[in-house]
Amino acid sequence: MRVAVTGGGGFLGSHLCEALLRRGDEVVCLDDFSTGDPANIAAFLGNPGFELIRGDVSRSTDVRGTVDAVAHLASPASPPDYLRRPLETLAVGSRGTENALRLAARHDARFVLASTSEVYGDPEVHPQDESYWGHVNPIGPRSVYDEAKRFAEALTQAYRTHRGTNTGIVRIFNTYGPRMRPHDGRVVSSFVVQALAGEPLTVYGDGKQTRSFCYVDDLVRGIIAMLDCDEPGPVNLGNPVELTVLELADLVIGLTGSGAEVQFHPLPVDDPTRRRPVIARASERLGWVPEVTVEDGLRRTVRWFAGRPDDVAAALAA
Ligand code: NAD
Ligand code: UDP
Repeated sequence: MRVAVTGGGGFLGSHLCEALLRRGDEVVCLDDFSTGDPANIAAFLGNPGFELIRGDVSRSTDVRGTVDAVAHLASPASPPDYLRRPLETLAVGSRGTENALRLAARHDARFVLASTSEVYGDPEVHPQDESYWGHVNPIGPRSVYDEAKRFAEALTQAYRTHRGTNTGIVRIFNTYGPRMRPHDGRVVSSFVVQALAGEPLTVYGDGKQTRSFCYVDDLVRGIIAMLDCDEPGPVNLGNPVELTVLELADLVIGLTGSGAEVQFHPLPVDDPTRRRPVIARASERLGWVPEVTVEDGLRRTVRWFAGRPDDVAAALAA
């Protein structure tokens, strides 16, 4: 297959590019590096099966030659990133998604949208399966991301229904691992960087809010399973093991052997109280279940960050 990966220079996208190249696919990566890092894909640049198109997919998704599949991952994902780039986030969720859908439609290619558990907002139903419509504040600060993704889902579904495009939607729950930017502000990267430096871990609110953390290799396997079939979705992809933020802090402190303490900070506006995916659909339709335990995934993540002491120090100074 020749696969176009928008956002291929980011955390998830670069792992997806790598896994596709490893199995012999060709990859066209489209990225403007607004929240990604060229270092994530530097190792693939010499690979004849890999092509990089640097640019904003909200403007263009022109690709030379044919593509068999489009994985649309371009979008800021970390709350500090999308709060810093609100209009760009709405643009890439709307215009960027339409450009990526047009690319797929032009080539009669499979299209997979990287949607998010954020479409469930601050859920009134727990755990969340795909039939839940969500509880999102349409004018709150997070709406630039949540509503962009909800619109992206609606557009994807409309291309399927009205244009016959072979689309699929995955709703990704919190995912972590190597290549997260050390200063991207997400909870796993922040806690690991802080613990390695012996700095206090910044817990927002009382730390009793929950998330369910999936290791990146598991998640990428799920996206590839979705690319390889005709399933329309939406399909939740996430690890159903639910942790409070305080439990996560304790785990990270334990795994780093750090003497760091926790320090409480105000809870961001509209921060969801709890999050846990029901993954029965992914298991039945994609044969997908996560395999990496949180302890093992965090251990691998800690090892990766520990190997980059300069980046860790720079992130703390920022
Ligand atoms: P990331 O910020 O590391 O990667 C996003 C990539 O998209 C970056 O390389 C960025 O430069 C690129 N990008 C952003 N806007 C662009 C534009 N207009 N044109 C071209 N490139 C653009 O984030 P990530 O964690 O890798 O997330 C990837 C995708 O997965 C996003 O769509 C995100 O919403 C979704 N997702 C991620 C998670 C998670 O926990 N990591 C959870 C749910 C959904
Ligand atoms: N969080 C935290 N400290 C941090 C960063 C995040 O306590 O330094 C909390 C945040 O308030 C949220 C959870 O951790 O309740 C997950 O945050 P993240 O930004 O990683 O993902 P999202 O909010 O998008 O699920």
